[in-house]
Amino acid sequence: MIVAGNWKMNKTPAEAVAFVKELIPKVAGAKAGVVVAVPFTALPGVAGALKGTNIKVAAQNLHFEAKGAYTGEISADMLKGAGAEYVIIGHSERRQYFGETDETVNKKVHTAIAAGLVPIVCVGESRTEREQGVTAEVVRRQVKIALLNVGGDALLSSGLVVAYEPIWAIGTGLTATNEQANEVCGVIRGLLGELYGAGAAKKVCIQYGGSVTASNAKELFAMPEIDGGLVGGASLKADDFGVIANA
Ligand code: PEP
Repeated sequence: MIVAGNWKMNKTPAEAVAFVKELIPKVAGAKAGVVVAVPFTALPGVAGALKGTNIKVAAQNLHFEAKGAYTGEISADMLKGAGAEYVIIGHSERRQYFGETDETVNKKVHTAIAAGLVPIVCVGESRTEREQGVTAEVVRRQVKIALLNVGGDALLSSGLVVAYEPIWAIGTGLTATNEQANEVCGVIRGLLGELYGAGAAKKVCIQYGGSVTASNAKELFAMPEIDGGLVGGASLKADDFGVIANA
């Protein structure tokens, strides 16, 4: 069970450090793993402030190449050097606004695993795709391509996390019902079972994300196929994220 907060493009380095200092006592007793995905500029400060606590640090993206002429991009080694242990890959906002594709997601997954960063791979259907009845196909394709040529040993030893995030539920206040979220997380686990065997599929953390709040987290996380959450808006409020991490 892992609960991760995705801060997106919010908080200066100083605001980020002040925030995590407030968060530390609120999640100190959490049974779930707790992760905060902070802006690149806040990584060193936040990682320093969280040393010795149960909160891990994630980046929100990386480049798949190790180095070179890629102005504005950040490599896996840079992220590790800045204190990240996890990295979000393929968030729908990156797919929608920055040209991320299933293929670049796959390259980034390989790069992250090779560097020892834990990938949190985001997948999810659009509203139109859900209305067309192709949610399972879309999500299966995204997961299958994201994991192309990732072996079973690498999958498990990397600790790779899959986050099911229906695009229509992100930042909209529209949460998938417990049953909808559970069903698609089950589809993902079924695919992982086909690819890697049922035993391996059971061990992979599959999160739900999309308007998770302090009031709906407990029942979502109680669903059998849901192993935690990726939380956007509510992760920017220490009290709310504290409640969610303890749910
Ligand atoms: C997200 O951005 O990953 C997300 C789930 O956002 P929100 O919780 O705000 O819907």
